[in-house]
Amino acid sequence: MEIRLLKSSFDDDGSASTRQHTACFVVNGVAAFDAGSLAMAIGEDRPNVRDIVLSHTHLDHIAGLPLFIDDLFSTLRSPIRVHASLTMIGALRSHIFNDVIYPNFEEIKNEFGQVLEFREYEFEVEFSVAGLSILPVKVNHNEPSAGFIVGDAIGTIALTGDTADTDAIWVAAGQRNDLRAIVVECAFPESMTKLAATARHLTPLGLKAELEKLDRGDLPVYVANIKPMFREQVVAEIEELGLSNVRIFPVGGVISV
Ligand SMILES: [Zn+2]
Repeated sequence: MEIRLLKSSFDDDGSASTRQHTACFVVNGVAAFDAGSLAMAIGEDRPNVRDIVLSHTHLDHIAGLPLFIDDLFSTLRSPIRVHASLTMIGALRSHIFNDVIYPNFEEIKNEFGQVLEFREYEFEVEFSVAGLSILPVKVNHNEPSAGFIVGDAIGTIALTGDTADTDAIWVAAGQRNDLRAIVVECAFPESMTKLAATARHLTPLGLKAELEKLDRGDLPVYVANIKPMFREQVVAEIEELGLSNVRIFPVGGVISV
């Protein structure tokens, strides 16, 4: 399985920044998990991604979704499919695609028909998208938020999305014999433990405690969704943990597992 973490910002000289402001992972070049910088950074996968799976509706995870549909509007011969829970779909209808913030793309059709289709998923019920099996599992973040167990013909990964301390995703991941990697968040440094708890995110020590729940010390772990302002500090603290299987997911990079 190939997982690409899209870039989301630029440095002063115009080159792509290593800081991650938004979240969007493209799996096997065909499905996006979250859509933070989807429109802006999808690049070569733009013609192939028609399924977007949302973990939750925080802006840094959906900002590129309306723009992605807008960009493709006149060319779509089948709708963009947005997979989300019923509550998330309701939030997108009320707050984004409401003809105030952005057009209601569920109603506006191009010459070929519908351009946006919401597909509801239920937590703990596996579904298939673009050759991937996807099990959404509730995690401890904005209500409701999902992490995912994602499988293809080769193996399975766990993708936590945004979360604080949580259990169900580690139970679900532990049940997969073909688990090949974990992609997990770690938003804040230890000095911000209180804010991390309030915002329901992890710090490096929280991350360590979460990984101990799975008890697969040899499995590759890729850390993403680090708050850009604290990136260096979080990375240094993760390195201090001395966990040889834990590495930082390169922003704009691809991992193959
Ligand atoms: Zn969030």
